[in-house]
Amino acid sequence: MKKIVALSLAIAFLTTGCVSKKVVTKPVEVKVHKAHWGYVGEYSPEHWGDMKEEYKMCKLGKNQSPVNLTDFKDPFMYPLKLKYSTGSTEFINNGHTVQVNFKEGSELYIDKKVYKLKQFHFHTPSENRLYEKSFPMEAHLVHATDSGELAVVAVMFSGGFNDNPFLAKFISKLPLTKGAKNNLVKENLNAFDMMPDDKNYYRFNGSLTTPPCSEGVLWLVLKNPVPISENQLNAFRKVLGNNNRPIQPKNARAFLK
Ligand SMILES: [Zn+2]
Repeated sequence: MKKIVALSLAIAFLTTGCVSKKVVTKPVEVKVHKAHWGYVGEYSPEHWGDMKEEYKMCKLGKNQSPVNLTDFKDPFMYPLKLKYSTGSTEFINNGHTVQVNFKEGSELYIDKKVYKLKQFHFHTPSENRLYEKSFPMEAHLVHATDSGELAVVAVMFSGGFNDNPFLAKFISKLPLTKGAKNNLVKENLNAFDMMPDDKNYYRFNGSLTTPPCSEGVLWLVLKNPVPISENQLNAFRKVLGNNNRPIQPKNARAFLK
């Protein structure tokens, strides 16, 4: 609220001063600035749905993520079909997570659709839970079809003694502050290398775990975690803090295993 008052005063001052009339349109921007969602205090997940009209699914949605994965149906599930190649471009800090962007060339095939890997990013601790169990870190590999349908492959990390060799390739490039960006072209990462050998997965319909919490997202959570060392975990935690949305109700959904 303070910001609004301050800005209104500034505008009042400016408009009575020598600045052109254009400045009067400024209050529109103030509204946008107010909706800086986050994970603590007045901008925490329980308030997301009230912060902006566009975020209303965060409180009204019935198929929200993350979830506690348990109580499964057990139909036949095809093995995860991935055709990934190298192609990391940059490592960015958007103030909510750290994210590795990818150029085209890594694809997921499911339900006769082609989902292209756009980016992966991290949450500490994990957002989804497996049989109530939380993990120290979770990666989300975000894919989209050409028509904009989303599929997220989730990889859990659990504590180990040795450094995770995939993370070791780029952890020194962690963008430490909001807005920071590091080039990852030379590292030439292949996101396939982050996944466990056994790619059995759980499947459910969910949402983005961040505003606007849009639904219709296909979630594929790998059953097996990959290791991460305490040092690596601390490096991520230091940048991310706690950026996990709380568990959302299952409602009428089926979880498949
Ligand atoms: Zn995520």
